[in-house]
Amino acid sequence: MEFRCPYCNAPIYSRKNKICGVCEKPLPKELLLSDEQVAELKKQMDTEEKREKEFKQQMNDIGPHDGHGGAFKI
Ligand SMILES: [Zn+2]
Repeated sequence: MEFRCPYCNAPIYSRKNKICGVCEKPLPKELLLSDEQVAELKKQMDTEEKREKEFKQQMNDIGPHDGHGGAFKI
């Protein structure tokens, strides 16, 4: 689904923008994400970021391997 500025017909890349990036006219509300939707998106992004950080942290804890078993030594 593509959204376009009704004034200059430029594609709207981020519906979080409240004005058109090209003609800088305020975009109609129905083209924008509601505050609720933005908050929801932000929450999702935060969760993903956190997950990624945790994953990287885990990788750091486990590796890098020195070739002698490392953390996996029994
Ligand atoms: Zn525009």
